[in-house]
Amino acid sequence: MDRSITPESVLSSVVRITEQRSQQHLEDSLVSTLADLAGLAFCGICRPTHATTGIYIDYVAVTAHDGFAPPEQMTEIGTDTLLLECLATGGTRAVPQPDGSMRRALAIVDDRGTVCAFLVTLSPAGRTEQLGLIGGFAAIYRNYLAILRDAARDTLTGLKNRKTFDENFSRIVANSRHLEVPFTDDRRHRHLAGEHHWLGIIDIDHFKRVNDTFGHVFGDEVLLLMAALMRKAFRGEDLLFRFGGEEFVVLLAPTVFTNAAAVFKRFRATVAAFAFPQVGKVTVSIGFVRIQSDDLPSVAIGSADKALYYAKEHGRDQVGSYEQLLDDGKLTPEEDHAVGDMELF
Ligand code: GH3
Ligand code: MG
Ligand code: MG
Repeated sequence: MDRSITPESVLSSVVRITEQRSQQHLEDSLVSTLADLAGLAFCGICRPTHATTGIYIDYVAVTAHDGFAPPEQMTEIGTDTLLLECLATGGTRAVPQPDGSMRRALAIVDDRGTVCAFLVTLSPAGRTEQLGLIGGFAAIYRNYLAILRDAARDTLTGLKNRKTFDENFSRIVANSRHLEVPFTDDRRHRHLAGEHHWLGIIDIDHFKRVNDTFGHVFGDEVLLLMAALMRKAFRGEDLLFRFGGEEFVVLLAPTVFTNAAAVFKRFRATVAAFAFPQVGKVTVSIGFVRIQSDDLPSVAIGSADKALYYAKEHGRDQVGSYEQLLDDGKLTPEEDHAVGDMELF
């Protein structure tokens, strides 16, 4: 599409893009506007997902002209050297294509130095690449992502806040569809086989006493240190939230049941062994549950909560697995699950 680029046209495009209040709308608006202004045959934003089986590339917004087909959703990065090199360097790379067009990728790096997305462009043969425009739009996108990330964080601990939980949960549930659930005859112990996402609720034991004895300032200090201990104990792929006052939620990246149980037990032990300044010993109780691909956030939270309350009722400073407690007959399944679970007996 031919169109003269004036400072006014660029400025009004930027205004239109940054009016968007949702990330998805921003991304759609950004790729279509940039494709239009810079005369691109293709413009897309994709995100890398680090799974245990490799790095997957997921296009979240795409504008394609001249019959250029948008890439499939979620493809393995494979031998896409352009993206691999951008991922490694956090910079920008361009590779001329056999037909004379120029394919370019720009890594979008977040404030922790992680490549969180790529802006991918294809400038048609015989057309000068609008590098200034492309680079400028990539910078706007990076800044906007940083603002959105700040809005998604809890101000005291810097962990993700509850507002972002539902969004993250739906994405995880959607992603978990590609996880194999190996068939096993023993349906009672199906949670023991294969890798799954897991949701854990961590609740500080007798936190009211900490506030009552030492005051709110020391209470807040405990919350801060708890968040720091969580960041050290869990992996980068695990998502950490402060859910309420002294309640934290962890969404574990796919792993087997024994690992999930070991990770939560190790965290409980780490907290119990940590000497909190002034306050001394603080313990946590944890309940965790497997996330299934058709779960609603409220169902998973409800199940983890049941396991947590079992831990609270039975001495605190311990970890409860929802599935294990069901197997052991110590918890009864949710009403909604009653029909499915009848087949067990
Ligand atoms: P349990 O072992 O049963 O979990 O007991 P608990 O005292 O931890 O639980 P409860 O839910 O009764 O109390 C939670 C307390 O957390 C109440 C409130 O004083 C405190 N709290 C909640 N949010 C904050 C916060 O942001 N800062 C501080 N310092 N305290 C908070
Ligand atoms: Mg609580
Ligand atoms: Mg508590």
